[in-house]
Amino acid sequence: MDHRTSVDIAKRLAELKKNIARCETDAKRPSGSVILLAVSKTQPTEAIIAAYAAGQRAFAENYAQELGNKAAALQALDIEWHFIGPLQSNKTRLVANRADWVHSVDRLKLAQRLSAQRPKDKTPLQLCLQVNIDNEETKSGVAVDALPELAGAIRSLPRLRLRGLMCVPKHTTDPATQRETFARMRVMFEELNQQGFELDTLSMGMSGDYPAAIKEGATIIRIGTAIFGPRR
Ligand SMILES: *Cc1c(COP(=O)(O)O)cnc(C)c1O
Repeated sequence: MDHRTSVDIAKRLAELKKNIARCETDAKRPSGSVILLAVSKTQPTEAIIAAYAAGQRAFAENYAQELGNKAAALQALDIEWHFIGPLQSNKTRLVANRADWVHSVDRLKLAQRLSAQRPKDKTPLQLCLQVNIDNEETKSGVAVDALPELAGAIRSLPRLRLRGLMCVPKHTTDPATQRETFARMRVMFEELNQQGFELDTLSMGMSGDYPAAIKEGATIIRIGTAIFGPRR
């Protein structure tokens, strides 16, 4: 990767952080209440190193093998790894070994495997449940109606810590629709907490909709394109 690309990544990251701070202020939320995840899927390790050099520490990957390879290659760096992609049962061991967080759990079997496979010398795996918020047939995520039962079953697994909810809404550029969807996530999050769950994480908002997500209470936004540019 050439020097110019590294400079571009640092510049986009700085610009993005300014925008996030502005969104926090607009939403009357405390400064620093939104955590930025850099989504590095398909990007070379050099791009991760460039963002790291600019101060970024939390990175997210969508493919288990890619996460494994990058985490191994970059293990000298103080990176917090998040897994956010569709997870298959036969890939849970890799993720349980390499990730600090998993955002995309949508069935009990995956959670059970992750809990059983989480190495004993590591802290519990931090977990979000992916919600199929727009009820799309082609998308992963637990159905809204099935969420409380799944959350209840996962709560007692020993090597996991249930932190919150995640979603990937149906694509739209309309800010009002974006907000309405994220608001439904926020309500579900609040309802679970009223039922005694102690969730503190709403993982929602990507390059095209993070301002709306921040307005509706996102605590983690997952940004790829706006940091690294278009994916190959
Ligand atoms: C790719 C991806 C992102 C980042 O998307 P951008 O539009 O590039 O910011 C966030 N979340 C998930 C689950 C993704 O797959």
